Amino acid sequence: MSRYSSIVVLTGAGISAESGIQTFRGAGGLWAGHDIEEVATFEAYARNPKKVLEFYNDRRSELSRTGIEPNAAHLALAEFEHEHAGEFLLVTQNVDNLHERAGSRQPLHMHGELDKVRCQRCYEIYPSREELALTTQCPWCMTAGRVRPHIVWFGEMPFHMEEIHERLARCDLFVSIGTSGNVYPAAGFVEIAHQRGIPTVELNLEPSLGESLFRDRRYGPATEIVPEFFARLRND
Ligand code: NAD
Repeated sequence: MSRYSSIVVLTGAGISAESGIQTFRGAGGLWAGHDIEEVATFEAYARNPKKVLEFYNDRRSELSRTGIEPNAAHLALAEFEHEHAGEFLLVTQNVDNLHERAGSRQPLHMHGELDKVRCQRCYEIYPSREELALTTQCPWCMTAGRVRPHIVWFGEMPFHMEEIHERLARCDLFVSIGTSGNVYPAAGFVEIAHQRGIPTVELNLEPSLGESLFRDRRYGPATEIVPEFFARLRND
């Protein structure tokens, strides 16, 4: 039984890489071949909504592609959460649904979810797998053309920040998995944990930007190092 009474785990695109979903900063800093400025800002959406909707339609349909499944790292986290007697909060920057599909209870998606859309007129958020188009009608207020992906674009406020900060203020272990440490505020969570003097762990393919703030660092593919780490944590 792990001795930690409150654990916060932050995941990023790296945990889903071996499931076949490209990370953000692939070759040349592109996301699935796109410059981030072209697809992940509100300005991009205002300028060319069709292009942005199509980009997210592609990301959404990717999730139902054969072979895109939770991997051993997602499964290890879900299994640990179910067995852990204390508090366990999973915060993800990912917009995919692989944590849920692995059995994680209620991951907080700070950057939104591909499986959901929202109406900019009535602010209703609802699950949807349908392709978004410029003519898509909101089923709640019946307005057409105002439904957008439920995604936090650069320059927008991430979700669940209050709850995340509450947990960061009282957790006794912070673990970061598969994130490059480029995107704030998530990149700053380790600073909070470090300043509080609690153990901080980085599990990544390579050192992140915040590397020096992690007390324990393990580098390798998530499907190997995440199950190993959580198996050991169970008896720690
Ligand atoms: P990032 O792409 O900036 O960094 C990914 C990190 O994962 C890198 O440090 C890389 O070394 C590491 N990595 C790559 N393959 C790995 C593997 N097999 N095992 C372990 N680590 C591996 O990702 P980020 O820091 O999460 O920031 C990305 C932003 O882009 C987020 O805001 C997120 O919403 C979005 N995004 C999400 C997805 C997704 O939902 N799966 C995919 C791409 C981008």
